[in-house]
Amino acid sequence: MLLAACNGGTSGDASGSPGDEGNPLRIVATIGQIADAVDRIGEDAVEVHALMGPGVDPHLYRASESDITRLESADAVFWNGLHLEAGMTGVLERMEDLGVRSVRVTDGIDRGQLLAPPEFEGAYDPHVWFDLGLWTIVVASVRDALVDMDPVRAATYRANAEAYIAEIEDLDAYVTEQADALDAGIRALVTAHDAFNYFARRYGFEVRGLQGISTESEASTADVQALARFISDRGIRAVFIESSVPDQGVQAVIEAAGARGHTVVVGGEIFSDAMGVAGTPEGTYLGMIRHNIDTIVSGLSGE
Ligand SMILES: [Zn+2]
Repeated sequence: MLLAACNGGTSGDASGSPGDEGNPLRIVATIGQIADAVDRIGEDAVEVHALMGPGVDPHLYRASESDITRLESADAVFWNGLHLEAGMTGVLERMEDLGVRSVRVTDGIDRGQLLAPPEFEGAYDPHVWFDLGLWTIVVASVRDALVDMDPVRAATYRANAEAYIAEIEDLDAYVTEQADALDAGIRALVTAHDAFNYFARRYGFEVRGLQGISTESEASTADVQALARFISDRGIRAVFIESSVPDQGVQAVIEAAGARGHTVVVGGEIFSDAMGVAGTPEGTYLGMIRHNIDTIVSGLSGE
């Protein structure tokens, strides 16, 4: 079925330059954060579609028939590649055989800079967008892939990427400043799943997720109790829900902390693996990162 639909008159010849004829490159991205980078660098020269919209969990996502059709007729697919898209790795890996360029945007990051938590069975933690320094490397890889596919517009892609990276660096400085303003003793981020280890490393937080690095495994009662004990022992004021993970788990932790005599509140909703709704500030990468740090600081400080 996949083979029958391939090479079907698309502009998927990676050696050509779609820019010559004014045809936009057709790019499919998995998560919004990657689509946003493609869009910012490619502007009118690309038509980018994110498979996973607001509230969608990439760890559990499976490609629909229409996703596969869309992928097959794209010039390229841009994806995380570090086991983030666990349910569609096979589909994504097949695309190269169908003549669709496959860009794993994390390939440019030195493996030594990646986190490899033992509980994630030898795989790297895929949530690299929460270290804004690492994300600039990803943005540079997106730029290089677009330049390679469409050299006619190289100067535009390079200029757009430079401007975007400068914005990310400014935001990185803001996040650092906001984090540093919190007392070290209250810099503990408790969330629904373990998406914030890169955030923790770069900005000096302790993090705990109820579910692991992936949401593929369910949290047990023992996990809920252990997290409630951590929150109560540390006197943590607020925990956070994630837009792409159901909040029952976090609510159970709040109740379990209450049963231990410690009141903890929901400090707000933050964006982990999915961005917010298109057209809102949180519907962009820069906007979701800013929302997160502002929500975390106000939730933890109570101000
Ligand atoms: Zn995740």
